[in-house]
Amino acid sequence: MPPPATPPVPAPAPALTPSQITPGAPPAAAAPVVPPPAPAARLDRLSPLGTKPDWSKLQSFHQTLTRSEFETAMRNFYADGSPLPAPWKLEPDGVVVKTGDPVRPEARISFASRSESPLPGSRTWRRASEMPPLKGRPPLSDVHIAIDPGHIGGSYATMEERYLSFAPGEAIQEGTLTLTTAQVLAERLKALGAYVSLVRDRLEPVTDLRPADLVSPARQLLTEAGFPLPQENYNNLTGDAKLLTVQWQSEKLFYRVSEIQARAKKVNTTIKPDVVLCLHYNAEAWGDATAPQFSPMNHMHVLVNGCYSPVELEQQDVRFEMFYRLFSRIHEEELPLAESVANGTRVATGLPAYVYTTPNALRVGTNAYVYARNLLANRIYQCPVVYLEPYVMNHEETYRRLLLGHYLGRTLVAGRLQTSAIEDYVRGVVNGILAYYQKRRPL
Ligand SMILES: [Zn+2]
Repeated sequence: MPPPATPPVPAPAPALTPSQITPGAPPAAAAPVVPPPAPAARLDRLSPLGTKPDWSKLQSFHQTLTRSEFETAMRNFYADGSPLPAPWKLEPDGVVVKTGDPVRPEARISFASRSESPLPGSRTWRRASEMPPLKGRPPLSDVHIAIDPGHIGGSYATMEERYLSFAPGEAIQEGTLTLTTAQVLAERLKALGAYVSLVRDRLEPVTDLRPADLVSPARQLLTEAGFPLPQENYNNLTGDAKLLTVQWQSEKLFYRVSEIQARAKKVNTTIKPDVVLCLHYNAEAWGDATAPQFSPMNHMHVLVNGCYSPVELEQQDVRFEMFYRLFSRIHEEELPLAESVANGTRVATGLPAYVYTTPNALRVGTNAYVYARNLLANRIYQCPVVYLEPYVMNHEETYRRLLLGHYLGRTLVAGRLQTSAIEDYVRGVVNGILAYYQKRRPL
């Protein structure tokens, strides 16, 4: 499942714009095209557990991207369509970003005057077109694929809110399913010549931190959100009351932030793959975990990075990471890869496309299954990331198929002979990856 659209800590109410103050008032005939000035945003804020960025790293991107390439990337991927002013200034020959650092408040990246084929620079991943010629070797030879099984699973599944059981003695856990899927997928990709690394290979966290280590940032987060005297534990609490406890916030910082930061560090500094496949299983709201509800819906979608909201961009680390991805041209490789994987997975699973109705996702490219979202996992991994969300785990038939784990052939599920959902997932991803590299790498 992807993280929810709304932040779990209620944010302070934003200042009202004139049109909000007078509801129903028609726009004046000479309404200004320029949006009204927003209240001065604090541009030095960091995302939870975020680190101050080194803005000088953007200097290596001087004159590597034209203004038109920058604007196209912003429009097609990174902007969320909001009319609010962005914390940077577009000049004819460069972009000036507000850093949030009082010592050096601005970083300027100049544009290239004409489009040139980009050099690899300091990036560690390779485009398909940069792979060595195949010369008759297996089709994924030289391609380094990292597989990131989403969540932790095992004994952490309940804390992660990724544990689903409709009857005593049976359960599925997203983090356990993704690990099984990753292990089967790794073998298939290796058989085709790929070099494969698992970002997580057991039902344990990658981060060394635990919720007890994150009590103080959790408390700070609640204070900043306007809850300076929160309850410590969530025993017997539900709904918003549960979210507003130090325990819930420190657990979330552990499994959703610290864990992903640790994986990103592993991906960016040790594994250095050409692409990361983030494996997830989706779900529809199932209500109370002790009495979950089935959903009649079943669907899939694939995410690339993008769709940054103005509020997210007020955080200096988020702003830096977006610029880093944009100028690295990661989106140029990420989108066609995601489209190919979405295609393979659509054919293998037969699932319809999920349709986002929230403003945190943007339809990108030409494939109805592919959306852009700004998730921590696809933002801070500094290489193309294909983030998969097939299946609704609480769709009844899918749940029963998933209870059976991975198997080959067909078995009787809900009165019909059916294939393994995990096997179909794997086959779809393999076909998508294979189609992509076969089409784009030198022979
Ligand atoms: Zn997930």
